[in-house]
Amino acid sequence: MNTYDNTPTSQALAIEARSVTQRANQANIQTLDAEAAKAATKAGPQPGFTAPMKVASETQKERPHEQPNQGKAATPHESQAQAGRTPEAARSRPHAYFDENYNLVIRASAMTNCRRALWYTATGQEVTNPRDDQSYTIMEAGTALEPVVLRAMSRSGWKIISPKDQPLVSIKISGHITVNGHPDAMGLHPQDANDPEAPLSIIEVKTRGPEPFKRWQTLGSEVSHPDAAAQAAFYTLAAYQEPRDAVIASMNTGSREWDYEVIPSHRIEQAFYVSQTRLQALEDHLLEFGPDPTALPDYDHRPSSIECKRCPYFDICQKPNLPSIPAEQPAMNLEPVSQEQAVAALHDYEELQESIRQWEKEKKDATETLKRYLVERDLKRAKLQGKDKPRSISLVETHRFSTDYKQLNSLLDPETRKEIVSESSSEYLRVG
Ligand code: SF4
Repeated sequence: MNTYDNTPTSQALAIEARSVTQRANQANIQTLDAEAAKAATKAGPQPGFTAPMKVASETQKERPHEQPNQGKAATPHESQAQAGRTPEAARSRPHAYFDENYNLVIRASAMTNCRRALWYTATGQEVTNPRDDQSYTIMEAGTALEPVVLRAMSRSGWKIISPKDQPLVSIKISGHITVNGHPDAMGLHPQDANDPEAPLSIIEVKTRGPEPFKRWQTLGSEVSHPDAAAQAAFYTLAAYQEPRDAVIASMNTGSREWDYEVIPSHRIEQAFYVSQTRLQALEDHLLEFGPDPTALPDYDHRPSSIECKRCPYFDICQKPNLPSIPAEQPAMNLEPVSQEQAVAALHDYEELQESIRQWEKEKKDATETLKRYLVERDLKRAKLQGKDKPRSISLVETHRFSTDYKQLNSLLDPETRKEIVSESSSEYLRVG
C-alpha cells in the first residue's frame, strides 16, 4: 500500500495543499470551510492515505504495468454498488452511510455535496423534498448518454476501457471517512492508443445542457464544474495511487456534440486535496459528536442557492430560516396581466417578428445591391444621395480572433483563468 508520509514529496505536497486551499478560498470554489482548511493544511496529506482497490479489473489483466492494489472484501453496500450501475441502482444507493464501525462512507459522486446533507443521509433523516419525476428523467437521460459519449470517443480513436470493466475503488480520506465509487471509464488519448506502456487516464463522463456545456468549454471543469474535477481526481488517486492526467468528456444534450478536457496531473492532485480538506471538517464533526442525527454540521449553502433549492432536506434544514413572505404585495401598482392580455401580446409579438423578418430580408437585399455597386467599380467607398441627405457607403474589412479554450485551459491554472476569462450573465425572454 502506498502512503505519502514524511517523504520530501509528501512535504512538498503539503505545501502545495496549503496554497491550493488558499487559492480555493480566494476563488470561492464551493464552500471550503476555513477551520477545516486550517486543520488539513496543518496535517498535510493524510497518513492513512491509501487506495485499496477492491476488485482487480480486466484492465490490469490486459496491462500488467498497471498494478492493481488488492484490498479487503467489499461491504454489503459496496457489493450492492458493484451489482449494478443502472439508474435504478444509482437511485437506491445512499450518498452516505455509517458502516458497522460508525465510519462514514461517502459515494464519490456525492463527495462534493453539502456536508450537512450528507449528514442527514448518513444518520437516516427522512427526505422532506423528494425529487420529482422530471428530475429523475433528466438524471436517467444523462446516465443513458454516458455510453454514447464513450462510443463516440472510441470512434475518434480513443482506447476506452468500458464501465462494465471498472472496479469499485476506494480511498480512506481520513481516519473515519472513506469515499468509494466506480470510475466511468479509463482510456488513452488517440495519440497513445497503440502504446502498451502509456499510462491510462480516468475518464469522467458528463452530460450538460447547451449553456453549461459552453461554460465548461470556456472555463474548464475546475472553474465551471469543480465537482467533476474532484471526482476525476478521486478516481485517479484511488485507481492508480498517484496523480495522473485525467479526462473530462462531456456531451451537449442540445446539439449532441461532445468534447473533452485534459486536467494535468498536478492540478488533479490539487483538486483531490481541496476535496480532502473539505471532508476533513466532517471527520472533525464525527469525532466530536459521533453519529448523532441531532448534531448537524454547519450550512454549506444559502437557502437561495441552487444546491438548497434542489436539496432533499430543504424543508427541515432551511425552511425554518426563511423570512416569512407578506401575503399579498401589490407589485408597483401594476394590474396583474390576464391570460387574454398575455395571448394578445404574444400575437402582437408574432406579427412584429414576421414584419421584422421581412424588413431584414429587404435590408439584406439592399445591402447586397450596394455592395455589388462598389465591387463592380472596384471602389472601397462612395457617396450617394439618400432621401434626406448625402450618405457614404463603404466596404469595411473585419477581423475575428478565436481562442482555443481547450489549449488555454490546459496551460493555465483555474485562478489565472478566472482573471483572464470573465463571465457575465443577463436575462432575456425567449419565445419558442
Ligand atoms: S438545504 Fe442547503 S444547507 Fe441544508 S442540507 Fe440541503 S444543501 Fe445543505
